[in-house]
Amino acid sequence: MVMIFDTLSALCIFIFFAGKLLNMSLRFTEKYPEVAAGLSIEVKRTLYSGKSPFQKIEVFETEKFGRMLAIDGCIMLTERDEFIYHEMITHVPLYIHPNAESILVIGGGDGGTVREILKHPEVIAVDLVDIDRRVSEVCLEFFPEISRGLLSERVNCHFEDGVEFVKRQKKHYDLIIIDSTDPINVGEGLFTSDFYQNCNSILKEDGILVNQAESPMYSNRWVRSISEKFNKSFPIVQFYGANVPTYPSGFWMFGFASKKYDPNNLFHEQKFVKDKLNLKYYNAMVHQACFTLPNYVKDLIND
Ligand code: SAM
Repeated sequence: MVMIFDTLSALCIFIFFAGKLLNMSLRFTEKYPEVAAGLSIEVKRTLYSGKSPFQKIEVFETEKFGRMLAIDGCIMLTERDEFIYHEMITHVPLYIHPNAESILVIGGGDGGTVREILKHPEVIAVDLVDIDRRVSEVCLEFFPEISRGLLSERVNCHFEDGVEFVKRQKKHYDLIIIDSTDPINVGEGLFTSDFYQNCNSILKEDGILVNQAESPMYSNRWVRSISEKFNKSFPIVQFYGANVPTYPSGFWMFGFASKKYDPNNLFHEQKFVKDKLNLKYYNAMVHQACFTLPNYVKDLIND
């Protein structure tokens, strides 16, 4: 017995020091099959790994990106750069709409988008619809700073499929934010024409919809497809972009579909100045600039 223990301990100590000597590290790699590439991030340890009825959820402590949430092997957020995505998906439409009081978030169970929405005093009520209750539970445990807004009195969480929720909803919203996973598995239905048409039906006369619209460099067919489908349901369609280092290719698109407000000439600067939000990415110049797109993206959208 003592012999076995000694041999095992010696082996462990050998592996530990050999790893150190060879500079070996634990890594999480998100694979991008479309371009036969990926993003690899050094991790210290796994904090949580579990399977919900819908997807695999993992939380890692990384070396340099803080905590990281992954779903089905795709990075959803890291503490280091999540502010970029969450500020951009939220404040851009909220400084175009003059007075968004009622908001629907589809997906977004991590709470980052809700955290940003709640910075706007005019917002009275937020309905958040995520198919997976477990995502919110895990985020409330491991990312309290990001997710705590889910517990706000202004927020109502519904754990069900966003496609079904929108189909039967009678209430009308000023703004719908689709903060979804990629167009695979449970997220697929959130990228269909029928779904966008149903969203249109539950938006007020001057309502706005934004969605996370994938990478124009790696998932260009999805950007094109969202553009085509938005155009079938909405009179005003635009796209804007932001630099999110841990999303595929680092350049991320957001789709903007609207019944009335054209982002080309609308930015509520006075409200922005008055609100004095403490933001790390979004500002007045970023707002104007984010709708300026490179030619290869314009070609995708205008095709
Ligand atoms: N910012 C992230 C990104 O772009 O990678 C999205 C993060 S958020 C965690 C995505 C959420 O969408 C997940 O919690 C997932 O459960 C939810 N989701 C996926 N399909 C859904 C559906 N059909 N209805 C409602 N929520 C859905």
